[in-house]
Amino acid sequence: MKELDYFLADEAATVSIGSALADVIKHQIKQGMVVYLNGDLGAGKTTLSRGFVQGMGHTGHVKSPTYTLVEPYDLGQWRVFHFDLYRLADPEELEYMGIRDYFDDRSCCFIEWPEKGTGLLANADLTINIAYKEQQRTIHLLAESVLGEQILLALSHVVKG
Ligand code: ADP
Ligand code: MG
Repeated sequence: MKELDYFLADEAATVSIGSALADVIKHQIKQGMVVYLNGDLGAGKTTLSRGFVQGMGHTGHVKSPTYTLVEPYDLGQWRVFHFDLYRLADPEELEYMGIRDYFDDRSCCFIEWPEKGTGLLANADLTINIAYKEQQRTIHLLAESVLGEQILLALSHVVKG
């Protein structure tokens, strides 16, 4: 499946798309993925990432990595890296961080503002766009790889529009 769209009535709906993606990865796909998150400030990129991180088993707080660029989560056999590149001044910073080591089979990388890291990031399996619809939101998920298509197909069975 190439694309999926949902209406997100409230914050809980945004969180639940993230946690549904986590369920799909843990129980069906069983490998890591790279997700690019697009959308204006306040659209819900961090909110969706929080749903994913918690869905993967993290029980604590999920803070926005705005100032740290990345928050790592070590969750048993899984690793989740939540990036926010909004404040990235120079893409070379990603090289110093050893960015390549973040992308592997057991890692799920959620990347807010991926355009700031163009050329240095792994290709996306999914590109997610969250848009304002008055006070609410819509979400568009686009598969960018065969893995991404498998993920969307599984997600479509779990989350009904
Ligand atoms: P971003 O990371 O895209 O800048 P955040 O996730 O930090 O955005 O903030 C999103 C804001 O929008 C939060 O205040 C959250 O409560 C709210 N929000 C998230 N999803 C929805 C939704 N579907 N409808 C209405 N408000 C939402
Ligand atoms: Mg954010």
